[in-house]
Amino acid sequence: MRRTRRVKIVATLGPASASPDMIEKLFVAGVDMFRINMSHSRPPHDGPKKLHAAIRATEAKFGRPIGILCDLQGPKFRVGDMLGGMQDLKEGTTFRFDQTESEGGNGRCFLPHPQIFEAIEPGHVLLLDDGKIRMQVIDKGAHTIDAKVLVAGPLSSRKGVSMPDTILPISPLTEKDRVDLDFALRLGVDYVALSFVQRGDDVRVARKIIGGGAAIMSKIEKPSAITDLDDVIAQSDSLMVARGDLGVELPVERVPSLQKQITRKARAAGKPVVVATQMLESMISSPVPTRAEVSDVATAVFDGADAIMLSAESAVGKYPLEAIGMMNRIALEVEADPSYDAMVHATSTPPQATGSDAIAAAAHAVADTLKLSAIICYTATGSTALRVARERPGLPVIGLSPVVATGRKLSVVWGVHCVLTSDPENQADMVRKACRIALEEEFTKPGEGVIVIAGMPLGSPGATNMMRIVFIDENGRPVAEGG
Ligand code: PEP
Repeated sequence: MRRTRRVKIVATLGPASASPDMIEKLFVAGVDMFRINMSHSRPPHDGPKKLHAAIRATEAKFGRPIGILCDLQGPKFRVGDMLGGMQDLKEGTTFRFDQTESEGGNGRCFLPHPQIFEAIEPGHVLLLDDGKIRMQVIDKGAHTIDAKVLVAGPLSSRKGVSMPDTILPISPLTEKDRVDLDFALRLGVDYVALSFVQRGDDVRVARKIIGGGAAIMSKIEKPSAITDLDDVIAQSDSLMVARGDLGVELPVERVPSLQKQITRKARAAGKPVVVATQMLESMISSPVPTRAEVSDVATAVFDGADAIMLSAESAVGKYPLEAIGMMNRIALEVEADPSYDAMVHATSTPPQATGSDAIAAAAHAVADTLKLSAIICYTATGSTALRVARERPGLPVIGLSPVVATGRKLSVVWGVHCVLTSDPENQADMVRKACRIALEEEFTKPGEGVIVIAGMPLGSPGATNMMRIVFIDENGRPVAEGG
């Protein structure tokens, strides 16, 4: 099965999309990677087990690698219970958070997170209930935080609290995350998303625990992660612009420029970047999106993001299939626009001083000059394909890999169509096999040319060092090789 779209689509699974039949339909409609949100799952995790089995069955049926992203809940902070379920806060009054385990009322409530008391300082902001209530700390004791109510509202039991100015002395993985992670790695997922990453060191800690079990996708949703963005990107395998929480922790009007900044930096580093949240939000209950949502999806595609994601639209919405179809059509329309190439290359990604980047840039230039029909790269770990995708070439990129995990990881990478195949025996076999697959997958035709790149000896990550220009004769055989 061949897709022509370059940007990939990630869909979150949930009650609206959990059946094997629906998963298959969503894949056919355009999903490249499925996201399983662990916030809604507890051991023994029967739900995620079934989703995983259905995705792998679809993969086997269609013979195409499909990615699975396991999104860990991360540290979520909540206030305790309120007397009567809720108390009304008044603007300008002082509200106290304390460590007394009793129902809140009369201007106070229990905050069951000692780490917050350790790290918060006067002047820091506290946001409650997805940012609807805003306070500023005016005083702090060992077991109390006094805050002035800046934006008032009703505070109900167990509402979420976030502290955009405070760096918390906490592990990036909670106890629940560790249990969920252990389950997910044993099940076999391709990416693990880390929620509320605060700094590059959080990713280092997670890497020690995850090892090589899955690739790490860091969700950028905290101001501190923006401050430490270069290191977060350097330590991560991929990034998610988690616009929901980002727009709570920072003024929502800052989200578009941060989205561009994160996308630009991730692209420059050659790390896949996913733009997420509220992309087609109105399609949760309507078969047609708003014009503004269509524009939002188009912007992410024009920015050259690797992937665009649906959350509640595909997880709990009334129109999951329509939402995927709509995303697919918007992306295809944008990618066919005459200005697309110039817009995608407005972000410059000059090659780094490595053999891999030099070959990737050369392959792009040669393919353009000779009007070739595809760049075919042998890629054991995916690193060659990633460096070629980083170039955002205007022609298809085919990744050939003997490793199924590599094919699945490349499911979220811009423009890469991965085909699983055994390693060739020698260079002549490498060229023959590449041409045969490109013909079979209909990326080229007899009479056209392709470019083949690889790292010799095969299987050595990051050692891309070979490029061959190959023309295909009328019988589908490679001729007139150069390079
Ligand atoms: C977000 O906040 O945008 C996001 C993707 O995270 P979650 O949906 O897990 O809260």
